[in-house]
Amino acid sequence: MEQNWLSAITINSVDTADKQRRAFTLFTMAFFAIVLITSLVLSNYHIYAMQLTVMLLVSDITIVLCMLYYFRTGALVLVTSIILSIILLLCMSLVYTGGKENTALYWLMFYPIVSYVTLGLRTGSILVGSMYLSALVLLLGPDIGQARYGPVEMSRFLASFTMVILFSAISEYFRQKSHQKIADITLIEKRDALTDPLTGLANRRYIYEHIQPRLEAEAANYLPMSVLLIDLDNFKSLNDSYGHDFGDQVLIAFTAMLHDKLRGTDIKARYGGEEFIILLPKAGIQIAHAVAEKLRAYVAQKQIPYDVGQSVTITCSIGIASLERGSQFSKTIKQADDNLYKAKAKGRNLVVSELSEIS
Ligand code: GH3
Ligand code: MG
Ligand code: MG
Repeated sequence: MEQNWLSAITINSVDTADKQRRAFTLFTMAFFAIVLITSLVLSNYHIYAMQLTVMLLVSDITIVLCMLYYFRTGALVLVTSIILSIILLLCMSLVYTGGKENTALYWLMFYPIVSYVTLGLRTGSILVGSMYLSALVLLLGPDIGQARYGPVEMSRFLASFTMVILFSAISEYFRQKSHQKIADITLIEKRDALTDPLTGLANRRYIYEHIQPRLEAEAANYLPMSVLLIDLDNFKSLNDSYGHDFGDQVLIAFTAMLHDKLRGTDIKARYGGEEFIILLPKAGIQIAHAVAEKLRAYVAQKQIPYDVGQSVTITCSIGIASLERGSQFSKTIKQADDNLYKAKAKGRNLVVSELSEIS
């Protein structure tokens, strides 16, 4: 349950950059395809067979519609697959007819590169494989095409086309591998940067970098939210009496008490030395006060083993404030801190919120 907060940390920016790379390649290809097809139709419609003109226009319109669909939905893989399938058909029709002075085969060379860049190794291989097989059938199979390719031309084409496919696939394979490695490292480092190494809790940076932006963006999931600022009492003298290492053990033991008494959905972080912050989403001040009081009482009676047959107890003071819609997080923290100060001033081992002011 404690790992909830860690799995919420993602590396969207790395994924977005990768999607941009694929989308940009697709845009460039779609742009060339549209310009090429449109100019072919405009300059040749009077000599083309009717079916060819219609086929080219339908392809043109479909590519434009696909791009519009991408802008609306962001469905990159679907849109890319459709556009590349259309281009595959156009390329094969070109090989079938031979193109201008039998130059059709040159136009196939870009296809493996674009397919692997935009769709990755697996899906890209399906389209590239389809093109390779269709080209083999048209070139070496029964005499179905309109064009005649000489044996030298065919063998040179097949050799160079195979090499383009091979090197595109190798480069995409290693790009994917290194991208995955970088993504993994980035995620680990981001999680480390937001974790307190001693207690394994989230740290103060997590609260301000990860949670605070969400309080505004996803207010409905959090507000009203209560903030508990907790400070261990007389920790300096505990360190002085038992040693700094045992002080560290006490911080770890206190963290376990937080996990015992709070829910997995409550956000727990080490705010500083012996100070902790708890955010209770969807909890008003009354609930927060009850939760804090239960925690305070639990901590005060819990025995922390020190040596064989020896143990110590600690106490904590808690200041509470509530974040309502429209109020500022920094102001709520300040208010919780003021209440924590009051709890200390009133003798420690106390919970202070606006409720205790009233009573
Ligand atoms: P108060 O009840 O007013 O909070 O008194 P206090 O002694 O707890 O407060 P003070 O701020 O004077 O001292 C906090 C102490 O916490 C001092 C510091 O050495 C200790 N401390 C901070 N971080 C750590 C840590 O990571 N490990 C240990 N062992 N001690 C720490
Ligand atoms: Mg302190
Ligand atoms: Mg203290």
